[in-house]
Amino acid sequence: MPSSSSSPSAQPHPATGADWQDGTGNASHQGWHNGWDNGWLRGAHRCPSPNHGPRPQGAALRLVVLHSISLPPGEFGNGCIEQLFTNTLDWDAHPYFQTIRGATVSSHFVIDRTGRVTQFVSIWDRAWHAGQSNWHGTDNCNDFSIGIELEGLEGSHFEEPQYDALVQLSAQLLKALPSIEGFAGHEHIAPGRKQDPGAGFDWSRLIGGLEALAPGLSWPSQA
Ligand SMILES: [Zn+2]
Repeated sequence: MPSSSSSPSAQPHPATGADWQDGTGNASHQGWHNGWDNGWLRGAHRCPSPNHGPRPQGAALRLVVLHSISLPPGEFGNGCIEQLFTNTLDWDAHPYFQTIRGATVSSHFVIDRTGRVTQFVSIWDRAWHAGQSNWHGTDNCNDFSIGIELEGLEGSHFEEPQYDALVQLSAQLLKALPSIEGFAGHEHIAPGRKQDPGAGFDWSRLIGGLEALAPGLSWPSQA
C-alpha cells in the first residue's frame, strides 16, 4: 500500500495517453523483450498517474520497493487501484475508502492477480509510494526507488503469475537501471508503520529468479 505522508505537491504532467495492450495474464505475451520507451516498459498496460514529480537531480536509482495493495482489502480486479492512482476513486463507494480519503499516491507498477503489469509513472520520475522511509541509512526512499505493488492482501499469499511477472519486470528494471543495489518490502523501509507485503510474500521466489542475473543484490535480512 502506498503512503502519502511525504508526497510533495507537484505539477501533474498531462497524461501521455493510454497504450492498451491485450492483457492475457500470461507474461510471455506482454512483449517483455522489447525494453523501454522513455521510462515506460513496452508491453505493459499504461495508466498514467498525475501523482508523481521529478527525482532529485543526480539521484541514482538504487532500490526496488515491493508493496501489496487491494481495495477494499481482500477484493481484487475491480479497478479501484487504478482509480486511486489516478485520483478518480469514489471515496463514498465503500466504508474502507474513508480511511484513505484524499490520498494522492501512486507507484510505478502494479501487478494484478493474473500477472498483468500496469505502469503508472515513468521510472525516471518519482512516484509516491514509500512515504516516510529509510533504506541503509538514507531517508525518503521515493527519491531513489522504483515502487511495485502486488495486488493482494497484506500478509496473505500471492499468485504464481504474479511471481512470474515480478521476476520478469525486475529483470527488465535491472537491465535498464544498473545502479539498482537491492530490493526491500515497504515493511522493511518503514518498520512499525507499514506491514506490506508481509509474511505471505515468498522472497525466495524473487531471489531465485534474479540471482543468476544480478548475484550481488541486497535483500531484506529476514528474506
Ligand atoms: Zn506499501
